[in-house]
Amino acid sequence: MNVLVINAGSSSLKFQLLDVDTAEVYAKGNCERIGIEGAFVGYESVAVEGKQKIEAPLPDHKTAMKHVIDIINATGQDFIGIGHRVVQGGWYFPESKVVTDETLGWVREVAPLAPLHNYAEADAIEVCRELFPDKGNVIVADTSFHYNMPEKAWRYALPRDVVDKLHIRKYGAHGTSHRYIWRAAKQFVGDDMHKLVSCHLGSGASLSAIQDGHDMDTTMGLTPLDGLIMGTRCGTIDPATVCYLHREGGYSVDEIDTMMNKQSGLLALSGISSDSRDIEEGAAKGDANCQMAFDMFYYRTGQLIMEMAQSMHGFDTMAFSAGIGENSATMRLGVAKELEWMGVKIDEEKNAIRSGEVREISTPDSKIRVLVVPTNEELMIALDVKDLLG
Ligand code: ADP
Repeated sequence: MNVLVINAGSSSLKFQLLDVDTAEVYAKGNCERIGIEGAFVGYESVAVEGKQKIEAPLPDHKTAMKHVIDIINATGQDFIGIGHRVVQGGWYFPESKVVTDETLGWVREVAPLAPLHNYAEADAIEVCRELFPDKGNVIVADTSFHYNMPEKAWRYALPRDVVDKLHIRKYGAHGTSHRYIWRAAKQFVGDDMHKLVSCHLGSGASLSAIQDGHDMDTTMGLTPLDGLIMGTRCGTIDPATVCYLHREGGYSVDEIDTMMNKQSGLLALSGISSDSRDIEEGAAKGDANCQMAFDMFYYRTGQLIMEMAQSMHGFDTMAFSAGIGENSATMRLGVAKELEWMGVKIDEEKNAIRSGEVREISTPDSKIRVLVVPTNEELMIALDVKDLLG
């Protein structure tokens, strides 16, 4: 059973056509620089060998979708429906939902919480409804998995009238990935796993405390700025810093927003790059700022893993995932070393193995099982489409 998965950004549109039962991918790619000069579609498909690139103007998402249709038609595969990744589901999507005029309206209604993403995603849904009138569409929100965490975890200690009026709470993010990581880890470990700290460490990074499949807490908050130190985001800092920057530094609200989201994190600490590979190279050459960037990343990640564990009163398994978690043996080891005091032990030979499979990298006597779980948000989205439309 095939599903088309769409992940739209303001200037990009990622797509993947996959078989939900076998996880086989027939075509996948990204329409980049939509609405900007130099647009192109990069893709791979079973219909042609090797990586392909179509250079063509992409004035809007509709034009991009037309290229996607051609690419999909060339595979000779049909699909049962379309799954759309939506970054912010607000209070409307405790679970995935079929697209109707009403549910699409909700994506736009909550867009002020994620303006860079939700509007583009809603537009892409609209385009798909127009171009594929006989196919169903499903909204899979990144926030859904976190929506039912305990109130003591999601509520902020701000005045009730303010939080109620503005819908302020911890929404979290990466929920579809954390949900997949739980599922894949459970399939790998079996009945022995109950309390998992899922570590999605990419350029955006978050942790999730998952007990028997239920999210108990997560490190991202109202927005994805909270929690861990990330590629360009500062993560948790004293909230009064915002007021201080404004009052004493003279920065505008928009400037502070840009600073904290785009100019901070590993980029600011290393002074050279937001990409952990560049920082690793710098640290190996003795660059003290690069080393401090890593030391702080390990320190904060270790601290927040403990925070997640505390929310479940313990944990038996932790799983590394996403760009850093899946690929960087150095950073996995750095994080694990922070937890050595409480019995986490990594087998360095197993840690060094590169593989696209779920694998265990802890020693037999480690108190906590440590896994590497390649995430697959597209498959999770496709599974929801199968559940709702299949
Ligand atoms: P996102 O989806 O949030 O953009 P990813 O999960 O793709 O991020 O992670 C991207 C990051 O992963 C890169 O910025 C880089 O720091 C890290 N990364 C990717 N590949 C490797 C690798 N082979 N070794 C070390 N780090 C890597």
